[in-house]
Amino acid sequence: MKCVHLQGFRSLLQLVEKPTPVPTGTEVLLKVLGAGVCHSDAHIWEGQYDLGGGRTMSMAERIKFPLVMGHETSGEVVGLGPQAQGVSLGSRYAVCSWIGCGDCRFCKIGDEHLCVAPRFLGVNRDGGYADHILVPDGRYLIDIGDLDPVAAAPLVCSGLTTYSALKKAGPVLQQDRIVVIGAGGLGLMALNLLRILGVPGAVVVEPNAEKRQAALEAGALAAIDPGATDAAQQVRNALGNPVSFVLDLVGSAESASLGYELLDRVGKMVVVGLFGGAMELSVPLLPMRAVTLQGSYIGSPAELRELIELVRKSGGLAVRVDRRPLAEADQALQDLRAGRVVGRVVLVP
Ligand SMILES: [Zn+2]
Ligand SMILES: [Zn+2]
Repeated sequence: MKCVHLQGFRSLLQLVEKPTPVPTGTEVLLKVLGAGVCHSDAHIWEGQYDLGGGRTMSMAERIKFPLVMGHETSGEVVGLGPQAQGVSLGSRYAVCSWIGCGDCRFCKIGDEHLCVAPRFLGVNRDGGYADHILVPDGRYLIDIGDLDPVAAAPLVCSGLTTYSALKKAGPVLQQDRIVVIGAGGLGLMALNLLRILGVPGAVVVEPNAEKRQAALEAGALAAIDPGATDAAQQVRNALGNPVSFVLDLVGSAESASLGYELLDRVGKMVVVGLFGGAMELSVPLLPMRAVTLQGSYIGSPAELRELIELVRKSGGLAVRVDRRPLAEADQALQDLRAGRVVGRVVLVP
């Protein structure tokens, strides 16, 4: 099989050949049909997260090299271990990469994505930047039916992350227009999900003009440049209702601060992005405005099943996909880091 190796932090991604694994026990072998390139891959490559105030969180303890990254994978089953169950040869699946220890308090209630000792595919063990992927158990495979496997791959992280965050809005999602900060892969995904969820719509905040245009094409009510001195006022004017929900898909000091400033009384901001930094917030305004700040990390395997079901019923999403061969993985990752990607890059072996 061919796969893309990360040999060390900040090193060139290399296409290598190795023997194709033979599934044993409950394992399932898939031929990869699509592998999304996510911002988390850029953080893994960099080896750290910026916690703000000069502090960083190192990935050195978590990552073992060489690593095959890729946690947004779809594929076709080509091999079954003798105890593999629930999947069939030749069928196409999204691979739920969020595999936990099975033992901790989060895993026990099905929140494997919050596991304290995760075994995530593409992070803690080999993932989808390859032409084959070995999945430990058929229960991590979700039937995608007739969905385009290349467009379906990003549902595993980009789709699930935005879906789980949007659900945290509660009933306001069906009542009010909301604010979405960031029109990268997650932002365009969020706009697509809002459409199939029947939400009144979203005003998008995004500094990049090309991405603002893409957001408008994906159905944003308006796309505002946060660099404008009156950005907050422009957002309020475009929204036409109180800011009851902000989804921050960027997660920088600037984006979270703007989101917090925008929030109206009893509003809620869910932060999903991991760009980095720290924000200063006025403590008295938190009770006085009775606002809620919440973080959301990926989403549960059950939510991923729910999402794929929803997308299948809607006939698929119109997410902009930039298909690239495996050999261009390194370039794709660098393009993403530099902000040159509009929509989602999916490696197609
Ligand atoms: Zn991801
Ligand atoms: Zn666990």
